[in-house]
Amino acid sequence: MENYKHILLATDFSEHCRTIAERAKAMADMHRGKLSLVHIVDNLPITDAAYGPVIPFDIDLTGQLMDAAKIRLARLGEKFDVPKERRWLELGSPKTEIIRVAEANAVDLIVVGSHGRRGLALLLGSTANGVLHHASCDVLAVRIKND
Ligand code: AMP
Repeated sequence: MENYKHILLATDFSEHCRTIAERAKAMADMHRGKLSLVHIVDNLPITDAAYGPVIPFDIDLTGQLMDAAKIRLARLGEKFDVPKERRWLELGSPKTEIIRVAEANAVDLIVVGSHGRRGLALLLGSTANGVLHHASCDVLAVRIKND
C-alpha cells in the first residue's frame, strides 16, 4: 500500500476535535505525509420554522464567525505543527468545501469525526456522510463514542 502524501483534517472545533486531530497527526507522521487543516464557516441562512429562510446571515455576523474561526484554526495549527499556508478557512457548505479544498490540493486522505457539533443522533453525521459519499479520495471517519 502506498503512503498517504497529503492528509486533510476537517475540523468543526467541537468537543472531540482534539482527539480527531491527534489521529490525523498520527496518520501523517506514520505515512511521512503532510497535514493540512480546513474549517468551513457555514453560510446557511437562519431558518424560521414557519416561513423558511427569512433572515439571511448578515455580513458582520459572518465576519465575526470568520474572525473567531481564524483564531481557533491558528491555535490548532500551532498545536499540530501545521504551517499557516496549509490552514484553510472557507465560507459555504461544509461538505462541498471540504471536498473542493481536498481536490484543489491533491489531498489523498480526508480525516473527519464520525460526529460533530450536531451530536450523535445519526449513525454518521451529515457532513461526515456527505464527504464519505462524494470525495474522490479516501476518507477516515474517526469514531466518536457516546460517553
Ligand atoms: P457532522 O457530520 O456535522 O456531525 O460532523 C462530522 C465531522 O465533519 C466533524 O467531526 C468534522 O470533522 C467535520 N465537519 C463538520 N462540520 C465542519 C465544518 N464546518 N468545517 C470543517 N469540518 C467540519
